[in-house]
This record gives sequence, structure tokens and C-alpha cells, in this order.
Amino acid sequence: MSNKYERIISRFNITSVNLDYVGPSGTPQGLNRVELAGVLAGLEDKRYELGFMFITQDYAKFSLVANYVLLEASKIIVREKWKLPRGKYLAKRMCQLAVIEVLAPKLCRNCRGHGQYFDLKNNLVIDCKKCHGTGGGTIFSITRRAKLLDVEPSNFRKNWQSKYDAIYMIAYNWLMDVFEHINRKG
Ligand SMILES: [Zn+2]
Repeated sequence: MSNKYERIISRFNITSVNLDYVGPSGTPQGLNRVELAGVLAGLEDKRYELGFMFITQDYAKFSLVANYVLLEASKIIVREKWKLPRGKYLAKRMCQLAVIEVLAPKLCRNCRGHGQYFDLKNNLVIDCKKCHGTGGGTIFSITRRAKLLDVEPSNFRKNWQSKYDAIYMIAYNWLMDVFEHINRKG
């Protein structure tokens, strides 16, 4: 870790994000912790711990993983010279929120994951327009993200949404690496 990143990270020091609203996600695949550790063995720590949290829903290593994301995000922040508001710890919050979102279930709220619903008026089963019939989606609206990050929604949409997406993708890609690793091991 370079000192530059350490200095950036040391500026972020916030109270932890409330994880109460993270619901069940994924399935434990019938493995106990020792077996799971075996399946995840060989992954770098950040991916290992993220995958472990995703599968077990044990969030003990949440801060550690959020800090790993922040370390990675710091490279983007420095490279792209983000102007972060002082004293609001926005970068760290965005990293924490990204980990939360990656761990949270991806179900369309409109159709509750079914992808379709029964249209009573026309007596038809129709594809959900919100998720285009996939049943998936984010449970975090822009408004909700902004609120969690303590940023005005209009400010978030204009200045931070695309930056947040970049941070989200760090955590998302790590989780995809975990899935690939698990599939490789069969
Ligand atoms: Zn839907």
C-alpha cells in the first residue's frame, strides 16, 4: 500500500453504516464454514471475505471489505482527481454502500422477483415493466442512495451517481470473481 493511499484513507473516518436493512441474499449452498472456506481458498483476502459475507450473511468483516474497496477506489479518486467534500467522508460512505448493495438481494420491488404479474384489468399475465421480466433489480433508488450518503438527491444525481457506479463496480466485479472461482472448482 502506498503512503499516498494511506493518507487518503486516513481522512475518512466515519461511523459505520447500519446494516439492519440488508436482507437475506443468496443461499448457503449447504456448506458449513469449513467447507465454505475450502471452496473459497485461493482467493485474495478481499474477494474471499466478500464472498464469505455474501454466502453466510455474516457481516463481521464488513468494515474490512469496505476498506479494501476504498483502497481500490482511492486509485480512481487520485487518477480522476475527484473533488470530495471535506468532512463528509463521502468516499468511504460510497464504498460502504457499494458493499452493502452488492450483498443485498437483487429483487425487483414491482413484481417481487417474479418478472411477471397478473393484470387483473385485462386478464393477462404480463412482463413487469420495471425489470423487463427479469425479476432482478436494485433495491436502492437514487433517492435512497443519496439519503444514505447524506447528499441532496439532485446533487447526488448530478455529481456523484456515476462516481458511485464506478465504486460499486469494484465490489461487484470482486463478487463475480468469487462466483467464477466457485464455478471453476465445480
Ligand atoms: Zn419486476
